[in-house]
Amino acid sequence: MGKVVAIFNQKGGVGKTTTNVNLSACIAQKGKKICVIDIDPQGNTTSGFGIDKSTIENTIYDVIINDLDIRSVIITTEFDQLDLIPSSQHLAGAEIELATQEGEREIKLKKAINQIKDDYDYIFLDCPPSLGLLTINSLAAVDSVLIPIQCEYYALEGVSQLMNTIQLVKKSLNPSLEVQGVVLSMFDGRTNLSIQVVDEVKNYFKGKVYTTIIPRNVRLAEAPSHGQPIIYYDEKSKGAEAYKDLAEEFIDLEEDVI
Ligand code: ADP
Ligand code: MG
Repeated sequence: MGKVVAIFNQKGGVGKTTTNVNLSACIAQKGKKICVIDIDPQGNTTSGFGIDKSTIENTIYDVIINDLDIRSVIITTEFDQLDLIPSSQHLAGAEIELATQEGEREIKLKKAINQIKDDYDYIFLDCPPSLGLLTINSLAAVDSVLIPIQCEYYALEGVSQLMNTIQLVKKSLNPSLEVQGVVLSMFDGRTNLSIQVVDEVKNYFKGKVYTTIIPRNVRLAEAPSHGQPIIYYDEKSKGAEAYKDLAEEFIDLEEDVI
């Protein structure tokens, strides 16, 4: 049975989508079968895989709100071993629509994902930058959470709130929810600040921080406008190397545990 992992941090702009697109592509390249689910109304993960949002008929929105069969919204991407379930801007309204639904509104996504868990090695969720019902649905549906943290001022701001949310969901909806790991992103080795943030984050999360640190790399910022994960856009870039290393570390740690 596949493992379901949410890329989660309620702060925007910390590298969630970049990590989702590129880590999943690198893990897929290692022969694992992957499905990425875009639950952010902005749909950056969807376009990051080269999918034109204007051509999509049904999305994860229809699965959550209209009980559409999750299999019917899976898109096979042009990249090896990688399927995508796209997002829709309608998801922005889904928070309110869910709030007015009776019963089981926190586990709608979990029920849908359970139907496809056996078809993949990993399913990665790109969460919206909020702590609303969509995020609760995501946290209820996953085995673990991977937290990207940007090497910037206030890196740890909001982290205690994030950990509280995880604890809350663990207590109520998902007792086996774990922190998969913490990935430091947008590291700039030329600044003392970045180095300081790495220390602070390692101290806060103890053994949970990946050794691989994602550097700030312009090719990573360019790749989405070409609709390609970095390993397809510029395989030799520092960003590609970093995400390949992260994928290796991710899988090694998984296989150690088993
Ligand atoms: P989030 O999904 O958390 O909002 P994104 O992954 O979209 O964050 O990243 C925010 C912005 O920073 C995007 O424009 C993205 O292209 C850019 N970015 C992310 N990671 C890097 C990196 N390592 N180097 C350079 N730019 C990056
Ligand atoms: Mg994003």
